[in-house]
Amino acid sequence: MADYIAKYLENIRERRVLPEVEPGYLRPLLPEAAPDTPDSWQDVMKDIERVIMPGVTHWHSPQFHAYFPTANSYPALLADMLSGAIGCIGFTWIASPVCTELEVVMMDWLGQLLGLPKEFLAASGGTGGGVIQGTASEATLVALLAAKARTVKRIMEKERQDEFNIVAKLVGYASDQAHSSVERAGMLAGVKMRKVPTDENFGMRGPELWNAIQEDKKKGFIPFYVVGTLGATPACSFDNLREIGEVAKEYNMWHHVDAAYAGSALVCEEFRYLMDGIELAESFNFNPHKWLLVNFDCSAMWIKNANDIVDAFNVDPLYLKHDKQGQAPDYRHWQIPLGRRFRSLKLWFVMRLYGKKGLQEHIRKQVALSHQFEDYVRADPLFELVLPVTLGLVCFRLKVSVSLYMCVL
Ligand code: PLP
Repeated sequence: MADYIAKYLENIRERRVLPEVEPGYLRPLLPEAAPDTPDSWQDVMKDIERVIMPGVTHWHSPQFHAYFPTANSYPALLADMLSGAIGCIGFTWIASPVCTELEVVMMDWLGQLLGLPKEFLAASGGTGGGVIQGTASEATLVALLAAKARTVKRIMEKERQDEFNIVAKLVGYASDQAHSSVERAGMLAGVKMRKVPTDENFGMRGPELWNAIQEDKKKGFIPFYVVGTLGATPACSFDNLREIGEVAKEYNMWHHVDAAYAGSALVCEEFRYLMDGIELAESFNFNPHKWLLVNFDCSAMWIKNANDIVDAFNVDPLYLKHDKQGQAPDYRHWQIPLGRRFRSLKLWFVMRLYGKKGLQEHIRKQVALSHQFEDYVRADPLFELVLPVTLGLVCFRLKVSVSLYMCVL
């Protein structure tokens, strides 16, 4: 299998990226039921090309240009193999101590590589720390649920209002460019989310957010959560984190930063200006599995005050208790599922085998390629850029000129 994987990846550009199969192609290729007696390994290997590969979209082909990038590398694949072999479910420290402890340290390493403020890191000795979630969507939802619990608690302590009444009035904000998972987090949590219009560069600014809050407050709503995006999905645009953070502080709102794609670029000092104002945020998330050479899944999230998350999701059944509680994080409190994979191994292998230098070279090379493509677009009279290129996404369109119209007609 190791040889097969190496050959697959080394020769991937020879495969057609999109499969040519139709829905339902697979069932006729398989027996109607599981075998009564074991198949041989050789038969299983043969069926990979016959059954599986015809239906694969090859995301790691250099000719794959759909959706967004997803990362991969041999160090990450090998770490995943080891993680699969260990197969622990590290929901508490005692459930597999290294699974928790390596994650704490790796999230500090990674946070330092990105230049995050030390308040986000466990090594600072404060209340901050990092956790690996499966996806950015989970991180947005976890932050939203923590913000909701914190706001409800704060209001209930001050006023005589029941929880149901408060939740009905909560409203969260994100830009009209924010990923659909932000709107979905609101739906899942049963709270309203409002889209804030963006400026000419598709970024959310403080005054627009402030205006939206004023309107909502007049109607009796309670602002509690705002998501700022670095590298929004449609055009890789950037919200102004400092302005958003200041508004969030004024209204006691939780500011979560979704940098799912763009966060990887922060390993390079020259892109850190994009996160100016990050120190005002309460949580930050990006996906190493998008652009930092770690294969899916690995979504890195940091929280300034981890107690907000732990308090929001803390149930303590007898069968999960252990006598070391409180001396190290029990990550089951930081996430939605109970079970969790040993994903920090992937970060450890990748950070060690590339080093800061190798990771920076990887990002810089890809950004340079996008600027090279940007130059081609600028030089071509048929096309124009929609936005200046910041990272690896080039948004361009056909120029609709009179001569082109005539040519098409
Ligand atoms: N946020 C942004 C800005 C994204 O671009 C994406 C995915 O493309 C997501 C969130 C969702 O990521 P995930 O699949 O990790 O939930």
